[in-house]
Amino acid sequence: MKVKVPLRDHNMKMKICPKCNTYTMEDICSVCKVPTVNPHPPKFSPEDKYGKYRRIIKKESGVL
Ligand SMILES: [Zn+2]
Repeated sequence: MKVKVPLRDHNMKMKICPKCNTYTMEDICSVCKVPTVNPHPPKFSPEDKYGKYRRIIKKESGVL
């Protein structure tokens, strides 16, 4: 039986371990035993929001 999995659907199932940054399809990282997260959260608008935070962080860390 052939199962056709669209690439987009496959990507949506991919998660990443926040600890070791390893991509997995499991809900729990088999190495760290921590819950994996979606690397592309649909509820956030991408680049722009992170770029804004990155700029703030960069400004804050400028004193170091
Ligand atoms: Zn891990």
